Amino acid sequence: VTDASPILHLQNLKKHFGGVKAVDDLDIKVRRGTVHALIGPNGSGKTTTLNVLNGIYMPTGGTVFVDGRDVTHAAPHVRASHGVSRTFQNIRLFPALSVLENVMVGAQRANNPIAPGTASLRARALAALGFVGLAHQANAIVRNLPYGHQRLVEIARALAGHPKLILLDEPAAGLNQTEKQELVGLLKRLRGHGLTIFLIEHDMGLIQQVADHITVLNFGKKIADGTPEEVLRHPEVIKAYLGE
Ligand code: ADP
Repeated sequence: VTDASPILHLQNLKKHFGGVKAVDDLDIKVRRGTVHALIGPNGSGKTTTLNVLNGIYMPTGGTVFVDGRDVTHAAPHVRASHGVSRTFQNIRLFPALSVLENVMVGAQRANNPIAPGTASLRARALAALGFVGLAHQANAIVRNLPYGHQRLVEIARALAGHPKLILLDEPAAGLNQTEKQELVGLLKRLRGHGLTIFLIEHDMGLIQQVADHITVLNFGKKIADGTPEEVLRHPEVIKAYLGE
């Protein structure tokens, strides 16, 4: 494993549901320390891809490599121990628990053995909250927080396990313009700390501000792959989005 090797490699990935080829022969390489966006029209296979690479679905074919290691058949908690964590499109927090308690669940779930002298779960959770700017809300009950802050708690929970790769499923959904700009800042800071971010996102404005690389899906297949400038002027992409 070298710096040049991809942190994530989906190789000939397939996920078929009966006759529906939700993901078909997909090849994606994600470079270390980048923000990589997966986009495409509704039904193009984005969620299925994320679920396969997170271990929620077993693929019909192909291989998922994380840091050069084949994790195709590893359970989600095993992937977490290899440094992969994710957030969900619909918030999945414990609404009656405090912000800190929710984030501590993430610190624990990563299943990383805590070596003597390293920070406790609580300290790691507090550090993650500090990173997303919510340390002052540590004791608030999650259900009392505004929606945008709940999304930040989810990101903090994913960060608390000290991942090297974080998967975000539509992180900007439901955020107002101010919150979106805060999210852009947060994603850039995470990248600045060497984290790799792989995200599904519909908000093109946000993607153009943060993505280093974009992969475009249509009908389960990759139709374009490159920098935002390369991808967004690609005729196939324009066609897919205009639905011609
Ligand atoms: P996207 O996230 O890009 O909107 P999805 O990955 O959700 O796309 O869906 C891709 C295709 O796979 C769609 O045709 C969808 O109907 C189908 N699909 C997704 N999940 C299932 C499932 N559990 N069973 C059957 N078909 C599914």
